[in-house]
Amino acid sequence: MRYLLSWTAWPALFTICMLITGYGFVTDQPVLFFNLAYLFLAVSLYIFERMMPHEAVWNEDDGQTFANIAHTLLSKGTVQTLVVFSTAIGLATLVTPAAEAGHGIWPRDWPMPVQVVMGVVLAEFGLYWAHRLAHEWLPLWHFHAVHHSVTRLWIINTGRFHFIDSIFSILLSMTILVSLGAPMEVLVWLSAITAFIGMLTHCNVEMHFGPISWVFNTPGLHRWHHSRDISEGNKNYGENLMLWDQLFGTYFNPPRRPPVNIGINEYMPPRFGQQLAHPFRQLLKGKPHKNGPEAAE
Ligand SMILES: [Zn+2]
Ligand SMILES: [Zn+2]
Repeated sequence: MRYLLSWTAWPALFTICMLITGYGFVTDQPVLFFNLAYLFLAVSLYIFERMMPHEAVWNEDDGQTFANIAHTLLSKGTVQTLVVFSTAIGLATLVTPAAEAGHGIWPRDWPMPVQVVMGVVLAEFGLYWAHRLAHEWLPLWHFHAVHHSVTRLWIINTGRFHFIDSIFSILLSMTILVSLGAPMEVLVWLSAITAFIGMLTHCNVEMHFGPISWVFNTPGLHRWHHSRDISEGNKNYGENLMLWDQLFGTYFNPPRRPPVNIGINEYMPPRFGQQLAHPFRQLLKGKPHKNGPEAAE
């Protein structure tokens, strides 16, 4: 039973979430049904994490739960405020053709599933480079290090991002779609898919993926990305898809078990407020940490 679940959990949960969200679009309540799907996913994964954990030791408290949730709320809040603010000052009508049909070169008359796939692939290009830069360019790494400083992976650290890190990746990915004139429906689908895959990616559930890992970002791939060893960690930058990792040579999926002892080899203060300030301090210091991403070279 457990073995069967370990093979079917990822595709089954993702499909159910997509169906619930799709039903929301059909009945004109996409946000409500997206939230229901997200709640369903969180509860299911929480149960699976206890039933069949990938690493039992990752189920132990690391004292970071409050910080994880606070970073999630702050970065989501900041991004939403930014969207509202850009609408308020009229920026959105300039750069958000999403509001206006017929603007941009986006093929709005194509079937919606095709538009969504296109949207996910194109946005992923921005997400890939935002993430890769966050690892390979020291000023950004200081902020991204907050996400990587955890020593266990589970659903609650899915959204643990410094808000500067979140703003950067949203800007890079959404700008591509918005400047091409993608409709709002595509942006909502992209946000939903990113939310589902993000939580699946961080879950501490023993699963098998097979060919799914060739296409999608899975927990199996992302656990390598959280490795302390830079030769393993500076890989698998994809947020939803592995396409750009495959093309740019950063795909990493060796046939062995990813490390249990994950995290970073530099200091990160334990409290939320300190974690917000720490990257700015590092930035002002300007001096690279001895084990930062520059160690990759
Ligand atoms: Zn990363
Ligand atoms: Zn992660």
